Amino acid sequence: MTYSRVYLIRVYLIRVCLITVAGIYQSIAVSQEAMWERIPNYERTFLCPENEVYSPANVDQVQQIVRNAIQHQKKIMTGTRKFNSQIDAACAGSGQVQIITEHLNKVLEINHSDLTVKAEAGLRLYELNEILRREGLSINMISEGGFFSIGGMLGSDTHGSTMTQPASLSDYVIAMTIVDGFGNIRKITGEALKATRVNLGVLGVVVDATFKVEPLKKVSATIHNGTNDDIIEAITNLPFNNYSVSLAWFPGIKKWTATVYNFVPIDTPGDAVNSQAHLPNWMFKAFRELISVAQAPAIPFATCSFAKIRHSLRAKSYFSENGNIVENPVGYSDQMQYFTCNDSKTCPWEILPIVVGGFSIPIKQLPQWIKDVESIIDENSRPMRRVCLPLNGIYFRFSKSSENFIALNQGHNSVFIDLEYVVNTNGADDNGKKITATKSPKFYAVYQEIEQLSLQKYNARPHWGKNFANAFYNLGKRQYPHWDQFINYKNKVDPHNVFTNPWWDRIKTKGANVRAFTECALDGSCICQKDHHCPDNLSCLPGKWYQKSRVCRSAKTEASEPITITDSQIPYYTKVIKNIIGSEQP
Ligand SMILES: Cc1cc2nc3c(=O)[nH]c(=O)nc-3n(C[C@H](O)[C@H](O)[C@H](O)COP(=O)(O)OP(=O)(O)OC[C@H]3O[C@@H](n4cnc5c(N)ncnc54)[C@H](O)[C@@H]3O)c2cc1C
Repeated sequence: MTYSRVYLIRVYLIRVCLITVAGIYQSIAVSQEAMWERIPNYERTFLCPENEVYSPANVDQVQQIVRNAIQHQKKIMTGTRKFNSQIDAACAGSGQVQIITEHLNKVLEINHSDLTVKAEAGLRLYELNEILRREGLSINMISEGGFFSIGGMLGSDTHGSTMTQPASLSDYVIAMTIVDGFGNIRKITGEALKATRVNLGVLGVVVDATFKVEPLKKVSATIHNGTNDDIIEAITNLPFNNYSVSLAWFPGIKKWTATVYNFVPIDTPGDAVNSQAHLPNWMFKAFRELISVAQAPAIPFATCSFAKIRHSLRAKSYFSENGNIVENPVGYSDQMQYFTCNDSKTCPWEILPIVVGGFSIPIKQLPQWIKDVESIIDENSRPMRRVCLPLNGIYFRFSKSSENFIALNQGHNSVFIDLEYVVNTNGADDNGKKITATKSPKFYAVYQEIEQLSLQKYNARPHWGKNFANAFYNLGKRQYPHWDQFINYKNKVDPHNVFTNPWWDRIKTKGANVRAFTECALDGSCICQKDHHCPDNLSCLPGKWYQKSRVCRSAKTEASEPITITDSQIPYYTKVIKNIIGSEQP
């Protein structure tokens, strides 16, 4: 990695300062060199403030860094490089101490008789499972991304989908090691784990964790498809009668498609992997071109066309063996559920930046929620201008309840609901190329209306590792009955609030310290109250169906935007995608 001259000069100056300061304070020797850096998120749409970054390699080094920071009255936050949480959850505040877990990446112990594994917090889920697989063991159905770190997954309560066993990594934890707000090493077991398994990084640095594991398992995947007419039946049956179900609902085109996993004997032939992100780079570039056209107002290449193409890609097998799609895939359970990025390590969102939103509600409320969302879609649609949510539609995953204080599924069987959309202008520039369209994503007002419906009417719990800032306002006991117990535990292990950052400060103060500034609704910093909070000369108005919401939309009637694609035209438009990228075709 290279660093700019400015950084190097700053590092030099900081060192000079530290030497001077050492004469005043009796400084603790920190074995790690600090770099002054701005750590980016997974797709470079968000940068942490510039701060002192350390990459410790063991618990002693973590302890030294924490004690040194305490001595110098710095705040600390821990995360990964290219963190996958959406905004600043994993970032230290400006000029504070950022701990990166990249060198805490070892499996420490595997116990075959107890079926447990102890691993360091920076290890990625797919790395852990690769090691476990060689030992005939696995952890399954807890995430759709294999690239998350153990610490990040416990920090933000990463989940997968299954009703037959726990669906979040946090629920497999039986012990943890944390360096706390005194700089002490704390071994946590038993009841205290309810506070620490899901921890947001605000209790200390998680150095390692011990998990229950399972014998290695194989699964088959089948794709089930349906329409709005049978979606309620699907969500009330499929998750309860199968090992794992992930359902993508495309309400604009009134269709759903579900990936359903079930066990097969371990000696069943098959080594398939989830290759939903293995599309070649040219195709992602083509999608980007297509969506930038679809996003522009009044262009007859509508968002619903894109939704149809996305639906058609999900509605058949997206599993591969040796690079070839297989129709009846069978493979190891972990590899069938989560995806990794292309061999080139380019992830789709580095070419086509996305916004990842998500929250959970009790499963029993899902049928009513679906009806409400259908009403929102209908109310916002007009003849020849149907609202479509193209990327993954609305994505449902399912889980049993958890006892962890601030788990997304605490206290009730839950459905995790994801809303993803494409960022227009504010993304990675991919060698200087920028998408130019309106600033706010198309149908942004509809996303906002659905999100506010969920948070306000359903008391939804926003995913700790997803969402914009406004989703976290007013969080507390209303959503989490054990909120105070979590705060009490934080006060016990970190009474001087060493582990904090602006993201946590906003949650604690219920967003009170967030200013509503011009165009603040664009990046989700606020829910608009006045017109100038909206981008693109839009007005701040009640949602069209959920009138309690406040969304940015045009006060005028929008131009008509015909849908020009039919099912039989999908192969044609797939060819169009290829033509868009011309010589880059494989
Ligand atoms: C493409 C994509 C797909 C996703 N898919 C899923 C999914 O299938 N399921 C799901 O639930 N979520 C998903 N997410 C959301 C989320 O990003 C992950 O849940 C997870 O938080 C990311 O892990 P990370 O290792 O990048 O953690 P980071 O983003 O680095 O950290 C997440 C949180 O954990 C804390 N933390 C990290 N390490 C430590 C540590 N060692 N000690 C203390 N605190 C720590 C951070 O402070 C932060 O609060 C997805 C996100 C993206 C971008």
